[in-house]
Amino acid sequence: MSRYPFARIDLAALKHNLQQVRHFAPNSKVMSVIKADAYGHGVIQVAQALMQSDAFAVARFSEALTLRKHGFVQPITIFEGVSTLEEWQLAAEFELTPVLHQQQHLEFLLKAQIHQPLSFLWLMLETGMHRLGLPQQDVIKIIDALEQRSDLVSKLGLMSHFANSDVLNDARNIQQLTVMKNLAETTGLPVCMANSAAIISLPESHYDWIRPGLMLYGASPFANKSGADVGLKPVMQLISKLIATQQLKAGDEVGYGGQWTADKPVRMGVVSIGYGDGYSRHLSNLGKVLIRGKDVPIIGRVSMDTVCVNLNDCPQAQLDDEVIIWGANELAVEWLADKAGTIPYELLTCVTPRVQREYLNG
Ligand SMILES: *Cc1c(COP(=O)(O)O)cnc(C)c1O
Repeated sequence: MSRYPFARIDLAALKHNLQQVRHFAPNSKVMSVIKADAYGHGVIQVAQALMQSDAFAVARFSEALTLRKHGFVQPITIFEGVSTLEEWQLAAEFELTPVLHQQQHLEFLLKAQIHQPLSFLWLMLETGMHRLGLPQQDVIKIIDALEQRSDLVSKLGLMSHFANSDVLNDARNIQQLTVMKNLAETTGLPVCMANSAAIISLPESHYDWIRPGLMLYGASPFANKSGADVGLKPVMQLISKLIATQQLKAGDEVGYGGQWTADKPVRMGVVSIGYGDGYSRHLSNLGKVLIRGKDVPIIGRVSMDTVCVNLNDCPQAQLDDEVIIWGANELAVEWLADKAGTIPYELLTCVTPRVQREYLNG
C-alpha cells in the first residue's frame, strides 16, 4: 500500500527550534504553543518532543484534556479560557491553567466548589488587539477580588497578545507594550506577552514567560524572512510522488476548467497531492514542487487529490519519483503560503488527517 503523500515530522528539528527559542529569550520561561494538533504536526508526539518546555498552551479546554489524558503533567494554559461552572471545576481537578478574558466567566469561578485552588490563572488584558481581553479599567478590581480568594486561585499573571508583532518597527507594538508595562509595574504580577514574532524582534516584550508557536515548527512569521534566516529548521516535510506522466502537444488544456494551455510540447506530470490533503487550491497555476532537486511548476487547477506539473525543466523525472511539496530550504512553506495569499500557519494546520504523519528522531 502506498504511503504517499505523507508528512515527515522531524522531532530533532523541533527540539533544535526550542533551543533557538531559549537562545532568543534566555531569561524567560517557555510556554510551548501546541494548539490545533500542534499546528498540524500531531500534538502527542510534539508534546513528547517538547517535554523540556516550562508549560504547554492550547486554545481549547478539550485540547488540554487530551494532553492530560495522555499523561502529560506540565502546566497547560487554555487561551480561550473556561466559561461554565462545570469547566472551572474540571480545570481545577485536572490542574489546568485557564486564561480569564471575560468578566462574566469570573462569576462562575467565584461560585465554584473546588478542593484545591487553581495553581495559576492568567488575566488576558486588552492592550490593542481587540479580540480576547479584559478592559484595562476592570483589571485592578478583578485582581483585588481574586487576591481575597486564595481558596480559588493561588497565583495570578498578566497576559496580552500583539496584533502586529509580525510587522517590524510598528509603533502599535510599542503602544501595546507600554500599556502592559504600566500594569506590570502597578501590580507586580508576572507577564506573558511575546509570540514567535515578538520573541524574535521585540526583546523588551519577553518578560517572565513567552509563548512561541510557529517558530517551534521552524517557520518564520515575517513575510520577508524565512525560518532558516533566524536559525530555525523546518519540522514538517510534506512528500508525495509522481503517479503519472503524459506528453502534451501545443494547444492541450490541463485540468478542470482548462486553466492552463500548453504553448508547445510539454511533458506533464501528475503528483498525488490536492486540496483534500490541505494543499491550497489558491496555488493553482502558482505553486511549485521539487523533483530531484529541481523546481517544477504547478500547471492548471489544484484538484482534490492531484496537481499537474510541467516537467520540461526536469527531464530526469520518472514515474514514482518522490516529490517534495514543502519543507525544504529550496521550497519553504512560508514561500508557498505567500504565493497562496495566506500565511504558513494556515498551510500547516490545514494538512488533513488523510496525510499520514511519520516521525523521525523520536
Ligand atoms: C497561537 C497563539 C500564540 C502563538 O503564536 P505564534 O505566532 O504561532 O508564535 C501565542 N499566543 C496566543 C494567544 C495565541 O493564540
